[in-house]
Amino acid sequence: MKSPPFDLVAPSSLEDAVLALAAGADRPGGAAVLAGGQSLLLDLHHRRVRPSLVVDLRRVPGLDGLGVHEGHLRVGALVRHRALEDPAAASGALGRVLPVLAEHVGHPPIRELGTFCGSLAWAHPTAEWGVLAVTLDAVLDLRGPAGARTVAAGQWFTGRHATVRRDAELLTGVRLPLPPPGAGAGFLEHRRTEASFAAAAALAVLEVEDGAVRSARIGLAGAADRPVRAHRAERLLRGAPATPEAFAGAARVAAHEDADPVPEPHGGIDHRRQVLSVLVRRALGAALADARGQRQEAA
Ligand SMILES: Cc1cc2nc3c(=O)[nH]c(=O)nc-3n(C[C@H](O)[C@H](O)[C@H](O)COP(=O)(O)OP(=O)(O)OC[C@H]3O[C@@H](n4cnc5c(N)ncnc54)[C@H](O)[C@@H]3O)c2cc1C
Repeated sequence: MKSPPFDLVAPSSLEDAVLALAAGADRPGGAAVLAGGQSLLLDLHHRRVRPSLVVDLRRVPGLDGLGVHEGHLRVGALVRHRALEDPAAASGALGRVLPVLAEHVGHPPIRELGTFCGSLAWAHPTAEWGVLAVTLDAVLDLRGPAGARTVAAGQWFTGRHATVRRDAELLTGVRLPLPPPGAGAGFLEHRRTEASFAAAAALAVLEVEDGAVRSARIGLAGAADRPVRAHRAERLLRGAPATPEAFAGAARVAAHEDADPVPEPHGGIDHRRQVLSVLVRRALGAALADARGQRQEAA
């Protein structure tokens, strides 16, 4: 199918982009932002969206910054998935796990064009960057006609392809807190085919001291209509021995108490819980191995 007709503007400043979005918000179908175009163009072609204005962000300067500042990795609105394949993008556990997540996002041409922030804005329930943002308690920076505001990643997603973003707001960047030195991270994903989105995924970030878990963060995809934290499993792990038995127990809690999977065409709810349990257990094991690897390197 062809896209419905729309006007296209390509502002050359952030202020003009926000003004254009605000003007477009009152038009029939509203306005859409074009960042990497990897989801918007498909939505237009399938007529899932019918904006009468598209605001192309790609000429706005200053949105492609990627760098560590004050304990956060800041990812600007025009940073491509591809840039996060580079382990030098951040230090420590985040730098090591970013390429693992990035290589699960679509395939190389998608990663060359699509953006990290576009993924958060589009809000697919099993998108890798959504899980990362929720797990690390990222902060999203927005700019709208009323000025700037920030939203915590845990509050950002409200459902499948739904967020708290207001019509005329631009996501200008995201700040990802760096895990503490010595932490380890592990990410596991299950997908039906190489080309499909994840059916389920788990990201674990662990700090271990004297053989016991000091802190644990676990993010899940495929456990709800949005990425979620496995808070109950995290609590169970805090202070527990970092053993396969403890990880298996936490994984069961994550899959059966934290997760509330929604029906999907492929695989029933019980099957998804089973898959989640395996993914969480393995992600915790990978996070532990990552943390221990760092310690051995430092010794
Ligand atoms: C074949 C295929 C496979 C894919 N596989 C995966 C996968 O496995 N995992 C995954 O996570 N993604 C996958 N994607 C999606 C891909 O990651 C997209 O790049 C991403 O979802 C959207 O980023 P974008 O920059 O292309 O945004 P666009 O397509 O330009 O925009 C998407 C939506 O977000 C809004 N938007 C974009 N940027 C902003 C902003 N800064 N502020 C406000 N609103 C904004 C737009 O208005 C639009 O509604 C796949 C896509 C394709 C086509």
